[in-house]
Amino acid sequence: MESYELLGLEGIGSGIWACGECHKPHLIATKANRPVSDMNRKAAEECCAPRNCRYCGQITERDWSGQFRWAHEACIPKYEPTPPHSSMANPYARLLYKKMSDISEDCWCAGWMMGNEYALWKILHGDRHDYGWGGIAYEDLEELRLLSEHADGWIWTGPEMEYTPQLVCFAEWESILAAWGGSGDDLVSEFHAPEQGPAE
Ligand SMILES: [Zn+2]
Ligand SMILES: [Zn+2]
Repeated sequence: MESYELLGLEGIGSGIWACGECHKPHLIATKANRPVSDMNRKAAEECCAPRNCRYCGQITERDWSGQFRWAHEACIPKYEPTPPHSSMANPYARLLYKKMSDISEDCWCAGWMMGNEYALWKILHGDRHDYGWGGIAYEDLEELRLLSEHADGWIWTGPEMEYTPQLVCFAEWESILAAWGGSGDDLVSEFHAPEQGPAE
């Protein structure tokens, strides 16, 4: 807005500028203890000046201090985490997911190793219990089996590149498994960490 320079003693410009509307003095810059006149003037000019929303470009409204806002409240993007899949309302589905994730964490130090659901299914229905850097304990497999039975399905993280853990019934899971391809044997070996040779 219109600004004016405050005058110091002896009527000499002080280098401090005030807003012509709210008369607030602006001293944002000093150099060698002297106010920097043009920078303070610029700040005073911008005081109380209308602003356009940085998102939609339309003029904003004033805030509680009388300054125009930098953006409309409604235009500021909100961070909204994706809501969980509706099938996860089933508590057994959540427990099953948690168990599968814990095993991935233990064996791979990853909350959900890529293909975790396929590998765990194979391990649950096969003879090999090695996974990642270790093996899956019998107790863990027992819990997996029990949780899956109670949930009446298996956890799938959704189509490729999409991570939406969800409970699918066994029939659906079988078709997902078939579409995924591979016998599963190669899957577990693929996920198997390289053997450590005996220390020399
Ligand atoms: Zn002002
Ligand atoms: Zn806006």
